[in-house]
Amino acid sequence: MSALEIDNVCKDFGTTRVLEEVSLAIDSGEFLILVGPSGCGKSTLMNAIAGLEPVTSGRILVGGEDITWRTPAERDIAMVFQSYALYPSMSVRGNIAFGLEMRKVPKAEREAAVERVADLLQISHLLERKPAQLSGGQRQRVAMGRALAREPQIYLFDEPLSNLDAKLRVEMRTEIKKLHQRLGTTIVYVTHDQIEAMTLADSIAVMREGRILQLGTPDEVYNNPVDKYVAGFMGSPS
Ligand code: ADP
Ligand code: MG
Repeated sequence: MSALEIDNVCKDFGTTRVLEEVSLAIDSGEFLILVGPSGCGKSTLMNAIAGLEPVTSGRILVGGEDITWRTPAERDIAMVFQSYALYPSMSVRGNIAFGLEMRKVPKAEREAAVERVADLLQISHLLERKPAQLSGGQRQRVAMGRALAREPQIYLFDEPLSNLDAKLRVEMRTEIKKLHQRLGTTIVYVTHDQIEAMTLADSIAVMREGRILQLGTPDEVYNNPVDKYVAGFMGSPS
């Protein structure tokens, strides 16, 4: 059984179809990278999986269970966005614990979760600071910490590193890879950075105009692109 299954999902905004019969099955522990040009529907698909945007038709299943009509809070899914969306008035500790508080996780358990992820992400010394007192990289760690604290079945990352400078991006990429190896989590990760895709992915889905053009291992997508578009996008040798 797939950890996450997207079954024939369509999404319209008004009269514009943005997702066209998207189907994907992601195994438990798989790192799936979703790539495609700006405006092709990547974020819309992520928002649909997270429950932030209702689908027009089709189904979304987690562990074989149909969650299409559940609210975001009822889904065992955590999302990290490009803009970190931290609560400015809350400390780092409060930001990381927030999702747990919403789920009525007892205080002692919340505290333990905060300590665990802060240690993992090396932000233990920043717990009492406010987001404004952090660097961009530190803020992104806090946003990741908030997702990790919940220990969800599925992680969604929507271009999480695109606001960081090149050096930090490489550093965080390595850390995300390590985290994935250590925790064995199921991840769907959007990027428009081909190097990020090639280094992180177990599999890559290439999207264009609301459709999945190709799904395969990095090697398959790079060396055997289905068409010129995928070849061009992945920078494949011709
Ligand atoms: P990507 O993340 O791949 O850049 P998006 O999923 O954000 O693309 O957007 C896909 C398309 O849907 C774009 O044409 C965008 O303008 C449109 N779109 C996204 N969100 C909305 C919305 N809330 N209302 C109307 N159109 C939207
Ligand atoms: Mg987007």
